[in-house]
Amino acid sequence: MRASGHASVIDEFEALTEDAGRLQRETLREILEQNGEAEYLRNFGLGGRTDPDSFKSRIPLVTHSDLEPYIQRIADGDTSPVLTGKPVTSISLSSGTTQGKPKLLPFNDALIHSTMQIYRTSFAFRNREYPIGSGKALQFIYGSKQAKTKGGLTATTATTNVYRSEQFKHTMEDIRSQCCSPDEVIFGPDCRQSLYCHLLCGLICSDEVQIVSSTFAHSLVHAFRTFEQVWEELCRDIREGVLSSRVTVPAMRAAVSKLLSPNPGLADSIHSKCSRLSDWCGVIPELWPNAKYVYGIMTGSMEPYLNKLRHYAGGLPLMSADYGSSEGWIGANVNPSLPPEQATFAVLPNIGYYEFIPLERPEARPVGLTQVEVGKQYEVVVTNFSGLYRYRLGDIVRIAGFRNSTPELQFVCRSGLTLSINIDKNTEKDLQLAVEAAGRLLAEERLEVVDFTSHVDASTEIGHYVVFWELCSEAAEGVLRGCCNRMDLSFVDAGYVGSRKAGAIGALELRVVRRGTFQQISDHYIRLGGAMSQFKTPRYVAASNAEVWQILCGNVTACYFSTAYSL
Ligand code: AMP
Repeated sequence: MRASGHASVIDEFEALTEDAGRLQRETLREILEQNGEAEYLRNFGLGGRTDPDSFKSRIPLVTHSDLEPYIQRIADGDTSPVLTGKPVTSISLSSGTTQGKPKLLPFNDALIHSTMQIYRTSFAFRNREYPIGSGKALQFIYGSKQAKTKGGLTATTATTNVYRSEQFKHTMEDIRSQCCSPDEVIFGPDCRQSLYCHLLCGLICSDEVQIVSSTFAHSLVHAFRTFEQVWEELCRDIREGVLSSRVTVPAMRAAVSKLLSPNPGLADSIHSKCSRLSDWCGVIPELWPNAKYVYGIMTGSMEPYLNKLRHYAGGLPLMSADYGSSEGWIGANVNPSLPPEQATFAVLPNIGYYEFIPLERPEARPVGLTQVEVGKQYEVVVTNFSGLYRYRLGDIVRIAGFRNSTPELQFVCRSGLTLSINIDKNTEKDLQLAVEAAGRLLAEERLEVVDFTSHVDASTEIGHYVVFWELCSEAAEGVLRGCCNRMDLSFVDAGYVGSRKAGAIGALELRVVRRGTFQQISDHYIRLGGAMSQFKTPRYVAASNAEVWQILCGNVTACYFSTAYSL
């Protein structure tokens, strides 16, 4: 795609967002016309009506569990129009890290089209500010297992459905983001081996790499943490032109071996660059000198990885990618130069019909896309072309402003996760802030939290919060006691503070787990059919999530109780 092509994508975006209200009504009409014959819509007696008022008064707000029986029938082979007019072509599995198990969702071509629209839109804006020439992308992307449902449909993660589509390859060429690694690496059955090969392929074409990216920032940080462990082995492979014996998948070995020939010059240069680095600071621009930026979703539950990512990225800009889910896309990042902490997503009004439930008044009627108020928080409700109608996505967003007539959203947190014992209420964001505050004490000791999660222990009469931490290396007991107190004091919700003072909630407990515990957790989700590309650490683990709970409890090396309120 030439520069003029990107300019026309920007013009198209400006036109689409000119009158978002009108486009929303048209989009709803199209969705309902295409799917009016579907059993789900007929059951609610929409009778061919396609206007917002009839739609909202007849179709209920739902969550995933309301739709599950319908999706299950489709998965089991019911080819009648159940949720959509046209047959569903495959089933997506969401990462499922919030609930503990993957959710089944309908997937069809409409989702591929909207993905491409989002990718092209945000790329056009990015490229206007940070133009890249022809080159490649070091992309840490991973397909996941593909299963067949009882009815014969493919079931896999949404990202895999997208990566496997023809349009994905074309779009990646157009937006100069062709992956350095061959398909055998992306779709390999073992993501540890794939990661090693991604790194190797990226090093082989280090001069061509213009972008370093992954879907979610977690995979980027994970990739470079792994690089710290395997860099000498990578150098050896490049020097000798022979792939390490750790890569055992035959197709992956064959595809990567083809790219490899002895290159002692490159191996020496990588070796000396790595040896000169201090604590791997700036490793990305050092090894990929033509990279223009680092790209991936960095908001929401990815924020805790930003410090580490900045460290690896040195002076390269971090650019936060778009906002979507296995259920469908919501918005594109059209302000690429904002730091990830402030990233916003402009809603594209032609890919779905959006409603917003005000967080302050959850009982109130949801408002439409153009009726949201700047500064307020809402839960997102999606209706789209893939068979979801008034579906509560479970995400909380804040309205940052308007771009033309469409709102720009800031991601706040998942709505489902709340730590609560009695009148206290702490969200995923509150937990993140508490961990960050305590993490600053660790930083003074040059230590860091690799990953974390939480739990409410209600097994005793007085319940308490438990926070699990994995650390990069051992910390002194005194430091950890200080961190534990700092976390306890950082939950500033009045219900929590009051209950702690009154003794109705017990002392917060910090449990430190062994190095590698969170890797075991991600391995567990990947075994269940999740994708490395979509992995998000669950920020709350209930004891009923038995396997993850076992992994956590089996790896505890120390625990500390806060003394913050007993002084
Ligand atoms: P999944 O479909 O399993 O990959 O998960 C989708 C969820 O990931 C969304 O509902 C959000 O909670 C989260 N998510 C997706 N995109 C973003 C983003 N740009 N910022 C923050 N969270 C995101």
